[in-house]
Amino acid sequence: MTNIVLFGPPGAGKGTQADILKEKYSLVHISTGDVFRYNIKNKTELGDLAKSYMDKGHLVPDNVTINMLKAEVEKNPEANGFIFDGFPRTAAQAEALAFFMGEINSQIDAMVALEVADEVLVCRLLERGKVSGRPDDANENVIRERIAEYYRKTDILKDFYQKKDKYYGVNGVGTIGEITERLSEVIDGLL
Ligand code: ADP
Repeated sequence: MTNIVLFGPPGAGKGTQADILKEKYSLVHISTGDVFRYNIKNKTELGDLAKSYMDKGHLVPDNVTINMLKAEVEKNPEANGFIFDGFPRTAAQAEALAFFMGEINSQIDAMVALEVADEVLVCRLLERGKVSGRPDDANENVIRERIAEYYRKTDILKDFYQKKDKYYGVNGVGTIGEITERLSEVIDGLL
């Protein structure tokens, strides 16, 4: 089983690349943002709760997110491996993930991070907001708050994986194909 955390700030291109990589390596892609949006669309209790945080650009509380992620993993007992996109985003989530993967006799093999400058991120997210229908992409203040939240709570996870020799940074600026190529080099090295 090969399990990858695809990492990077909002707008780094995680979703786009995960969609390509899951086919290429036959992995199950779990995007916490997509699961939250699905719940919001279907007006579930989880969706209502998540929306109240997401609309402000804040993270959804750890206990809620961790339980949800665990349930998504458990839905796929036959998986070859997972690409986690948008998880973990806090130290508590990273600890929970390590514990949980251990319980199913597996582990995270690598965190692969897409590196993109902040001003490029803001431009990309504003562009995406014109077509995605995502309210959190439509407002520059919310976008900047998401990036600030990333630096407050998420960026430190680089250290968490670096200490385990599992961190790989990749330049996230270029064509989609070029970036897939760079990510693939890292993943091929793990197999
Ligand atoms: P982005 O495109 O900004 O990377 P996502 O689509 O992954 O965002 O997630 C959108 C929002 O969902 C986040 O801003 C956050 O409010 C919530 N969210 C997603 N993943 C997590 C997580 N692991 N922990 C807490 N909140 C999360």
